[in-house]
Amino acid sequence: MAAMFRLQGKGASPGTAFGQIYLAVDVEETFLSPTDPSAEHAILSDAVQGSIAALRELAARSSTESASILEFQIEMLLDPEITEMAARRIGTGDGAALAWVTALDNYIAGFEQSDNEAVRARAADLFDIKSRVLAAMTGKPVADFPVGFVFVGKDISPSVFLAHDWSSGGGIVLFQGSAASHVSMLARAKSVPMVIETGTFNIAGEEKLLLDGGTGSVVLHPSDEELRQALSTRLSMRPIANEAEAPCSTKLRTADGAEISLSINVNDLSDIIGIDHAGIEGIGLLRTEFLMSSAADIANEDRQYGIYRQVLEWAGQKPVTIRMLDLGGDKPVPDRDGTSFLGLRGIRLLLARPEFLRIQARALLRSAVHGNLKVMLPMVTLPSELEKTVTIFREELTLLQRRRISHRMPPIGIMVEVPATAIMLDTFGAAEFFSFGTNDLVQYLTAAARDNAAVADIYTHAAPAIFRLLEHTVHIAATLGAPVSVCGDMAGEPEYIPALLRCGLRHFSLAPAQLAVIRSQITQLNADGTMAVEK
Ligand code: PEP
Ligand code: MG
Repeated sequence: MAAMFRLQGKGASPGTAFGQIYLAVDVEETFLSPTDPSAEHAILSDAVQGSIAALRELAARSSTESASILEFQIEMLLDPEITEMAARRIGTGDGAALAWVTALDNYIAGFEQSDNEAVRARAADLFDIKSRVLAAMTGKPVADFPVGFVFVGKDISPSVFLAHDWSSGGGIVLFQGSAASHVSMLARAKSVPMVIETGTFNIAGEEKLLLDGGTGSVVLHPSDEELRQALSTRLSMRPIANEAEAPCSTKLRTADGAEISLSINVNDLSDIIGIDHAGIEGIGLLRTEFLMSSAADIANEDRQYGIYRQVLEWAGQKPVTIRMLDLGGDKPVPDRDGTSFLGLRGIRLLLARPEFLRIQARALLRSAVHGNLKVMLPMVTLPSELEKTVTIFREELTLLQRRRISHRMPPIGIMVEVPATAIMLDTFGAAEFFSFGTNDLVQYLTAAARDNAAVADIYTHAAPAIFRLLEHTVHIAATLGAPVSVCGDMAGEPEYIPALLRCGLRHFSLAPAQLAVIRSQITQLNADGTMAVEK
């Protein structure tokens, strides 16, 4: 048997994992980007041909009346005008899914504006065709690895993390990585043990590895004694994990009586399985970019509507804050250059590609009738970005009205995660609520990228600067009378809660796994963040 070998990295998500190694080769994050135009043309053509074949089969089994409707749809799909419109968009750089949806939306708008009733009625068939072809574009599947294995590699993308089934255990060891990256945050939220910054190490053949995401230690070929110890630590931690799931329906207060609300951050629908919403205020942040695994998903209004509706129905009348796509930075991006952390990210990208914004706006407006929806915009820097987005929501609302589709205008608020926005908050009077994204606020305030291990120290030592800024901004928010919360990771970290309370914050949105520890900590603190004296 090979000798035991120990490495020291940094813990990024606590917990121990033991399993067979899956050694990942470097994978570029490309699943949302169009490949090359000829491949996108082929995707479009296959989806159209596949839809025609399916319609023919359906028509053959249908009554004469239904068959004639289906025949009409087949004729439309055979008409080169529509496919050529989509093909032209592929020629300008769009992926097949987006090209198809935008071409069809423009085409449908022409039918809807007709004075002729019969022509207007054809729009319904076109909607059907649009959905059918879109559903046929399944997108490239995200590369996965065997369940229960420990992922070892240079880095792991959020999409690979989210596509994997972690229910049977497993963990992550990264040669590089950063504790502030999105994937580390996802790992903590899902309680997947993760160690970063081990440096590259050699793995010969099939090997097993033990990792401790709390201490950052990694052991190759652990001895039986080592394994026994790790297992006993894991068992002794169990009651804490169970307590995290215990429902709590009483109002949460600090020791001196200030009311505090706790909401949850959701990255994936499985995050809400088994959560009792009785003990929480609602969902304070739903990161929609993690719910889409292909350009076809982003372009699919009905799929988005279905997901948002499901979450809203789960929450009943509790508020659900759905954040619009925050693509860019270290999250996957559709066909666009310049989408770095300092580039076209979040609302900037959506306004640069309003087709995406309009699709998501319609899905949100439609889902709003199923619960208590709030819509949040990411990466807002200027009041004009908020104004433009609200205008687009109003335009899409008028469109839905014309189509007689039920809808409701939700309150629209903003993330405060860019320092300029925090400093100038008084100019954002049009925002209906604010939520501090401390993960990004720290990186932009300190000029230290959250995914760069080399500046991780600067990132973690910036807390005093952040609290000074938060105090200033919470004060402005109070003068505007708009509700304010924190949804960055600081809200789930006990060491920062006293300072957040001191800044005047009373609403925290955090990973479900952190609820129990933060709830219990708050009862031991006063509203000014000081420790309560035991009576
Ligand atoms: C944040 O920046 O704090 C935040 C909540 O958004 P994200 O982590 O998704 O960038
Ligand atoms: Mg952010």
